[in-house]
Formats: sequence, C-alpha cells, structure tokens
Amino acid sequence: MAARLIPGDGIGREVIPAGRRILEALPSSFKLNFSFVNLEAGFGTFQDTGVALPDKTVETLKKECDGALFGAVSSPTKNIPKGYSSPIVALRKRLDLYANVRPVKTVAGAHSPVDLVIVRENTEDLYVKQEETFMGPKGKTARAIKEITEYASLNIARMAGDIALRRQRVRDAGGDSIHKQPLVTITHKSNVLSQTDGLFRESARTALSEEKYQSINVEEQIVDSMFYKLYLKPSHYDVVVAPNLYGDLLSDAAAALVGSLGLVPSANVGKDFAIGEPCHGSAPDIEGKGIANPIATIRSVGLMLEFMGEEKAAAKIYSAVDANLEEGKLLSPDLGGNAKTDEVVEDIIKRL
Ligand code: NAD
Ligand code: MN
Repeated sequence: MAARLIPGDGIGREVIPAGRRILEALPSSFKLNFSFVNLEAGFGTFQDTGVALPDKTVETLKKECDGALFGAVSSPTKNIPKGYSSPIVALRKRLDLYANVRPVKTVAGAHSPVDLVIVRENTEDLYVKQEETFMGPKGKTARAIKEITEYASLNIARMAGDIALRRQRVRDAGGDSIHKQPLVTITHKSNVLSQTDGLFRESARTALSEEKYQSINVEEQIVDSMFYKLYLKPSHYDVVVAPNLYGDLLSDAAAALVGSLGLVPSANVGKDFAIGEPCHGSAPDIEGKGIANPIATIRSVGLMLEFMGEEKAAAKIYSAVDANLEEGKLLSPDLGGNAKTDEVVEDIIKRL
C-alpha cells in the first residue's frame, strides 16, 4: 500500500513522522505494508519555490495512493506575501474532499464525558475565498462571498447521517459510548442568513428525512446557542453537521472540552479518498521543542484507515491511544505531563 505524507510547516514536521512510525509499527497480522512518499506543501514551500501547493503534490496524491496524512501549514495573518494562500484549503477543493470529519471523545471515566463528531462541509461557505477590497461610501471596504449549494449541503448531511448510523452499529456491537440513540444536530444561523444558511438548513433537513435515516433523531441548533449548549452539556451531542466556517470554529471549541487541540484528529473525505489531518495548526509557539502532542495525528492515522475500510487496524490504534491516556504516565505538556513527542509515540507503539 502507498501512503503520501505532507508534513507542511511547524509541528507538522514533528507529528507526521510520529504518524508514520505508528503505521510502521502495526502488527503484521493486519497485512498493511505501507510504503511512504513525502510531498511538499506549505508556507516553507512557498518561500522556497513561489508556490504553496505544487501541482506535483496534487498529481501524486491523485495517482495510486491508498491514503494520505497532512500535518499543518503556517498561514501568516499579516503581511501576507502576494500569491500565497493556504494549500490545505486549496487541496480540499482540488480533490473534492467535501467532508471534514472531526471526532472529539474523552476516555472512559472522564469527569465530563464527551463523545461527538463534527461533520464540517469542506469546500464552500466563506472559504470559497472570493474577497475584494474597494472604496465604498464609508471608505475602504472589504467584502467576502459566502456560497452555499444545495448539492454540497445534501452531501454533507448524508455523510453525517451515515456516520450516525455507523456509530450506532458500533454501539449495537458492544462498543462503549455515552449515547443510546443516534442524533444529528444541524447547526446554522438561518434566523439572520435566511438564504445561505437557510439553504443549508433546508437541504440538511431534506437529506436526513430520507428513508435510510429514519432511525436517527434530527434536531437543529442556531450556531451561537450551539456553542453555549456545547459547553453546558457536551454529553448531549452525537453527530453535529455544520457549514464550513461554523464547523471549523466548533471543532476547536470542542477540543477544549477534552483538554487539548493536540488530541483531536480529522479526516478530509471525498468519494473514494481520505486524507487524515490533525485539527490543530503548525503551533509556532512550541515548534522545534520536541513536545508537540502526537495523538491528534495518531488518531488521524486511525481515521484514514477507517475510511480505507481498515476498521480493525483503526480500532487497534484508538485503544492503544486510550490506554496511554487512561494510564496518564506519559503525557505531553499540553496535558500537564512532561513527556516528549517521541516518548508518547513509543508508549503507544508498545501498546499496539
Ligand atoms: P494552533 O492550532 O497552531 O495552536 C493553538 C494552540 O494550541 C497553541 O498554543 C499550540 O501550542 C497548541 N497546540 C496545537 N497543537 C498542539 C499539539 N499537537 N500539541 C500541543 N499543543 C498544541 O493554532 P494557531 O496558533 O491559531 O495557528 C498557528 C498557525 O497554524 C497559523 O499559521 C495558522 O494559519 C496555522 N493553522 C493551520 C491549520 C492547518 O494547516 N490545517 C489549521 C489551523 C491553523
Ligand atoms: Mn481550524
């Protein structure tokens, strides 16, 4: 099998090698013999070559590739050089990875249990990045387009429905969970944005009323009070479906409920291809210190395997990570420990 690795910038270069070590350490009984190819993308690549996402990276990803892992890229927030734009946003669009799936889960016995998945639309909304700056009646004005399509909204809601059903199957088979019934929460702001978010809401309702999803409870929550309720009673939520921007914000917020962004994985999923990617960014504040938490990436390896159909190997990885966290002896500094990235990886490998 072939895996493509795109470390990117900052701690991406520290956590992606950790993900690779986990794949290499999986017991041979899984018969997953990966070969690895490193690909370039990111701000560093832009500074070296003038392009943030080389065509070669996109082409190699499209060719005979079973799975891929993406680290993180640094996108400057000021003095942005002309021609630079985030390669991960572009990559999601160019490969039509229309869903970003972000599970957030506490380990057994947590004081305030959380077991939810945020299913974020990954190709449109304000992230179409059609911005302009012009002189208006009030002077300098900037404007952005928020684009929502029925097509993408139906697709993302169906993905949320399928994930809710899959989670229920795992529970029926005896998997541990705080939920008994599948629930999908549609989040939006259609009280203000009646056309864009209105279309998202309407389409999500339509998709989830299809025969296949009859066993799922469907509810709606306006996005500002969604944040409030998420903090007040996180255990209520099972699967949350959201347009791109709200999904981005909600998943970082949900990461705080489990203690660290360094724990939360994601997968960018298309029709027949998935790229695992930790939810966090390039974390320049801890770059180069060897203390980045590798768990978000290791769990992203699990998600990548799940979407490749290798559910048993994924389960093995999740339980090794949970065992490391439950024991709590080798934790990285973001979780209050003093273990280095490598020590956490080695502890998890021992448990595979
Ligand atoms: P960040 O996620 O990089 O960091 C936020 C905070 O969480 C920091 O204090 C950081 O130290 C901590 N943190 C994140 N991951 C951690 C880990 N694995 N272990 C321990 N601590 C961890 O977000 P930011 O600081 O807002 O952004 C930094 C850069 O990352 C920016 O250039 C931004 O554009 C980029 N970014 C990239 C992506 C991506 O590539 N998908 C996503 C978000 C941010
Ligand atoms: Mn984000």
